[in-house]
Amino acid sequence: MASALTDKLSRLVKEIRGQARITEANVADMLREVRMALLEADVALPVVRDFIARVREKALGQDVLGSLTPGQALVSIVNKELAATMGDGVADINLAAQPPAVILMAGLQGAGKTTTTAKLAKHLIEKRNKKVLTVSGDVYRPAAIEQLKTVTAQAGAEWFPSTPEQKPVDIALAALDFAKKHYFDVLLVDTAGRLAIDDVLMREIKDLHAAIHPVETLFVVDAMQGQDAINTARAFKEALPLTGIILTKLDGDSRGGAALSVRQITGAPIKFAGTSEKLDGLEVFDAERHAGRVLG
Ligand code: GDP
Repeated sequence: MASALTDKLSRLVKEIRGQARITEANVADMLREVRMALLEADVALPVVRDFIARVREKALGQDVLGSLTPGQALVSIVNKELAATMGDGVADINLAAQPPAVILMAGLQGAGKTTTTAKLAKHLIEKRNKKVLTVSGDVYRPAAIEQLKTVTAQAGAEWFPSTPEQKPVDIALAALDFAKKHYFDVLLVDTAGRLAIDDVLMREIKDLHAAIHPVETLFVVDAMQGQDAINTARAFKEALPLTGIILTKLDGDSRGGAALSVRQITGAPIKFAGTSEKLDGLEVFDAERHAGRVLG
């Protein structure tokens, strides 16, 4: 990993080269640099603290002190721990259900749920050859229902109509019934968001979850939320058994520290990253590549 952090750590190692061996204090200096790098990437403070504690334990346990190249040894531990925290390998959407596989999209308003619903529809059509239906349960914003209609058409999927007079659970059940009768493989359920967490919203999405038994419950979160992402993530994790995360607007956030925070808080794998406003701006999340990016 050639990065600014590696350079900093190498410099620290050079400074102490005159010493017979490096000390625990030197490791502490290096960990301080790692801590700074994570905070600069906007990883939430409690998550940074936990992370540093784990790395310190591993570093002392694995005898970084006695290593000929302690800087590199430490960087390697940091990288491995980052990748382990963010998940290893890549995780695609799980469709292992009696069709239609139902996917519930959860998240705050503006997180990118509707756009991501269409992106996912396109992905499932093009990459997995599925017949996809979308429906909006956002009965508070008629514009959101229209928006889903538009982007669903752009994605080449089908859209099931809903109106603000209906209840979200009734909408979802009607869409599910339609999807079954017309042999859809996947039903994507877009939901109402709020600008901030509130109890009514959480109860509503919990009811929706209980009614439609989704095989995937995806938490859509804006990477630009930075430190705040952890509070949102905690609230959604408490309300729903999340099966995956989609991190949106990664194109606007150079370091992507929210990935680490959200993953640590929810324990759910980050499955995709949104990388543009366009419908092809959805990438399978690569934890290892992202680890290098967070460290900068
Ligand atoms: P919702 O309220 O959660 O349904 O959010 P929307 O899907 O309406 O998205 C809110 C805004 O974020 C829109 O302007 C989208 O075009 C934009 N957006 C969504 N995902 C991405 C992304 O990955 N990158 C960028 N740059 N913009 C995105």
